[in-house]
Amino acid sequence: MSIQTNQLFEYTSKRNFEKTPEPKSGEKKTGPLLFVIHEHHASRLHWDLRLEKDGVLKSWAVPKGVPETPKIRHLAIETEDHPYDYGNFEGTIPQGQYGAGLVKIWDRGHYTPKVWANDKIEVKLEGKRLHGIYVLVRLKKSENQKNWLLLKSRDTEKLV
Ligand code: MN
Repeated sequence: MSIQTNQLFEYTSKRNFEKTPEPKSGEKKTGPLLFVIHEHHASRLHWDLRLEKDGVLKSWAVPKGVPETPKIRHLAIETEDHPYDYGNFEGTIPQGQYGAGLVKIWDRGHYTPKVWANDKIEVKLEGKRLHGIYVLVRLKKSENQKNWLLLKSRDTEKLV
């Protein structure tokens, strides 16, 4: 798919697919929108939040993990789009490769978008661990505008 190839240019250019077990591409299956959170034991442990959009997985690295209760705000750093098939990926990226270390699925499920704007994303997650409304707000003052805040909405209780 040419659209995906363009969107995945950064992802592809960072990786050597003869050495990493990560998927090179992947196409959307039918069904609701996918979300996945990877636990990534890279040089620094972090979690990667991924939301399916337009056939790829929009991605953020969350050093402290996804908040499980409201009122906690965690930094989420926007990273390159990942292929749809990354939603099933677990494995070990070999030493010397980009993101080297163990990658496990921490949670996975479906989501409903409420807001998807340039500076704010609001989604309802329905996973095995996470349920409820989550909000991402872009920090406009950050240098490259890739820093966001991730929080669980207090409205979650009313709606679940
Ligand atoms: Mn990662």
